[in-house]
Amino acid sequence: MSTIQDRLKPIVALCKRRGFVYPGSEIYGGFANTYSFGPYGAELKKNIKDLWWKMFVHERRDMVGLDGPILLHPKVWAASGHVEGFNDALIDCKSCKGRFRADHLIENALKLDADGMSLPQMTDIIRSKVKCPKCGASDFTEARHFNLMFQTQMSKTSADGDVAYLRPETAQAIFVDFKNIIDTMRVRIPFGVAQIGKAFRNEITPGNFVFRVIEFEQMEIEYFIKESAWEATFDRWLQSMHEWCRAIGLKESRIHEKEHPKEQLSHYSKRTVDLVYDFPFGRSELYGLAYRTDFDLKRHAEYSGQTIEYTDPETREKFVPHVIEPTFGVERTLLALLCDAYEEQQLDNGETRTVLHFAPRIAPIKVAIFPLMKKEPLSEKAQKIFAELKRFWYCEYDESGQIGKRYRRQDELGTPFCITVDFDTLENDTVTLRDRDTMQQIRVPCSQLLEVLSEKLK
Ligand code: ATP
Repeated sequence: MSTIQDRLKPIVALCKRRGFVYPGSEIYGGFANTYSFGPYGAELKKNIKDLWWKMFVHERRDMVGLDGPILLHPKVWAASGHVEGFNDALIDCKSCKGRFRADHLIENALKLDADGMSLPQMTDIIRSKVKCPKCGASDFTEARHFNLMFQTQMSKTSADGDVAYLRPETAQAIFVDFKNIIDTMRVRIPFGVAQIGKAFRNEITPGNFVFRVIEFEQMEIEYFIKESAWEATFDRWLQSMHEWCRAIGLKESRIHEKEHPKEQLSHYSKRTVDLVYDFPFGRSELYGLAYRTDFDLKRHAEYSGQTIEYTDPETREKFVPHVIEPTFGVERTLLALLCDAYEEQQLDNGETRTVLHFAPRIAPIKVAIFPLMKKEPLSEKAQKIFAELKRFWYCEYDESGQIGKRYRRQDELGTPFCITVDFDTLENDTVTLRDRDTMQQIRVPCSQLLEVLSEKLK
């Protein structure tokens, strides 16, 4: 059974064909569940991260950034609860040796929510009611816990033994540096710390393309507040997350809120709401918003033996701040954007045109510039326009092949505008400006190109 549903297949194929996403280590036959982001995928990811940083750090007065290490002291993960509790329930089919997440087996086969079930409960249900999705047998092992953290070895000389973990979330680096930040920055509660970086999880059943991978990037915010402010702050952040989805151009009708029932909350959370997106393979978590209370800072104070407190500058009251955490996955954002933007359009002439309708601010290439033919002085003029525009936007120059094919290629890359230098340009110094979505072309004087594009690319 393929985990990639039919509607995802053409998107995966386009990603490979057009240089967005390649399978990891492909020349060695691939390395399961790893991916490489090709030139346009790298641009897309960068645009996502830059826009996120601009919106949540640069445009606000209550936020600062951090770039913490991937390898943190092993005690961090004991304090955070990850060593003990960052587990998924794993179960194996004895017949075909297929390995599954027990909760996913129950949810997929029986449409039952397995969150909060104990291991023996899951084992009983699966053994009595579920067949192996790979081979159809009903012969399962007991369900057991599996820790999702990747371990690595440090040099033997390190004081605390030689095990280190690749961080499974970026959040902890922020808590570990909370004291440094309040000592060195002029931050006043309420304030937040934002971080973008890699996280690693040894997922039991990764899949659905880049939706669930073992190495991914998170964009996380820890927003520090007084306890009394948690409900209002939570609501404001939920709205800000919706605003972000609008800013990157995701269709609002495909985004929904999923409240976690109280009995299924993580050990640190008092309230969690996921933003879920209608992916081609079903409605699944895109982002999360959690009220983490003062759990993390208190635990780090306890495990490190340090005082981690904030002093109110007016009242001199000392307290441990509470935390609201909005968290965003970069790869899931990229996948949602691709699914949202992808369209196969039937044209009047019977052809099919594949387009990515990216919002201009997210599109990898903003403008493509072509001479009608690879011929002087058309090429020279087009290169001059390219040189001018690339000072402002990421542009592409292309002079090879038929013009129609060049347009189709840019449609598949999601480039909002194409400029063509033709023979009229030589007469009257105007070019054609083609709109990706309408395919309409207008003539624009070269002297007005910058102004017209600035308006359209806002
Ligand atoms: P899931 O329930 O899908 O496993 P989660 O609830 O464990 O996700 P969080 O711990 O809340 O996820 O992680 C924060 C964000 O990081 C998620 O909302 C998602 O965008 C992203 N994320 C988490 N795990 C993965 C993964 N394996 N691959 C890609 N992105 C991920």
